[in-house]
Amino acid sequence: MAGKTGLVWDERSLDYDFGPEHPLRPLRVKLTYDLIRSKGILDQNSVQVVKPRPASREEILLFHGEDYVRLVEQYSKKGSGLLDMGDTPAFKGCYEATSLVVGASMVAADEVMSGRLSHAFNPSGGLHHAHPERASGFCIFNDPAVVIAHLKSRYKVKHIVYLDIDAHHGDGVMYGYYDDPAVLDIDFHESGNFLFPGTGFPDEIGKGEAKGLKLNVSLPPSTGDEAYLEAFQQIVPDALRKFRPEIILVQCGADGHMDDRLAHLRLTTKVYTEVVRHMHDLAHELCNGKLLLLGGGGYTLANVPRVWTVAFSTLAGLKPTDDIPLQWSKEFEIATQEDPPLKLYDKPTLDDEKTLKEVRNAVSELQTNLGNEIR
Ligand SMILES: [Zn+2]
Ligand SMILES: [Zn+2]
Repeated sequence: MAGKTGLVWDERSLDYDFGPEHPLRPLRVKLTYDLIRSKGILDQNSVQVVKPRPASREEILLFHGEDYVRLVEQYSKKGSGLLDMGDTPAFKGCYEATSLVVGASMVAADEVMSGRLSHAFNPSGGLHHAHPERASGFCIFNDPAVVIAHLKSRYKVKHIVYLDIDAHHGDGVMYGYYDDPAVLDIDFHESGNFLFPGTGFPDEIGKGEAKGLKLNVSLPPSTGDEAYLEAFQQIVPDALRKFRPEIILVQCGADGHMDDRLAHLRLTTKVYTEVVRHMHDLAHELCNGKLLLLGGGGYTLANVPRVWTVAFSTLAGLKPTDDIPLQWSKEFEIATQEDPPLKLYDKPTLDDEKTLKEVRNAVSELQTNLGNEIR
């Protein structure tokens, strides 16, 4: 934990806004930043705030196609139109807003690669559904996918771990690098039988040179902390030690948290603490601590700021107290018209025999499919 941990933040990060009726509200990111600040975490010597910059057109083209980028530019000027089948509407300035999200993740990557920071978190990032030629699931440009391309081209990185713990399958990243042996992609998500985008099954293990490097852990709805962490331990440390990454990216979507408005898992702050702690320790063991944390989904406003505050603190080696500052609670009530959460941490969730068995089956099915493929 020698170096500093960065939080990429700027008010302009809130420009990624589909309007007040859309579930992906930038208020989630604002409330996260304010909770982190009000807990005194930004006053710690080990923590630093860094400003994002917009990604350039050339950088976006590292992953996205020319025609699609031009379409986003046109719709962005017009301020209307749909960028996919209906979930992702264009808005005025959406090109600039999504370029800033991508740029924020690139700043995080550059700070960590240069050694100026050990770890960095971009809460506005993690837009993992966008495909090279189209938007999807509230994601216009895919910041983790652009960052992976940037790490390969700018820094010649040959071993990148991408772990995705969003409740939804990170299809844009996984299929974008499905045959790329430079990317070990491990994705824990609620089964595609129940949730968008309907992909990410245990038989999807990559192709060609990358066979055995795409790991899908497809979880039943209602999976709690106990079953989740058991599956995590069975899969992640071994896979990472065999792969030997030079840098680790974690898409830390908060929609796996219980009571999320769009998903059905039952995770608590315990999972986010444990997953980030393990990834942090593995990063120090395997790649000089190089670890990027990105945001993602999360649609219940009382949960997302707590999940990301806990995740960021753990990344920085801190353990904040359980209380929620009064000033933040007031801001929350005014902004959301909802009751504020009373505590930072949740009571961990256990699992019944049926769920434990289903999750164990998902793990063993994946392990059987991987067979000797994993190296
Ligand atoms: Zn560290
Ligand atoms: Zn999600």
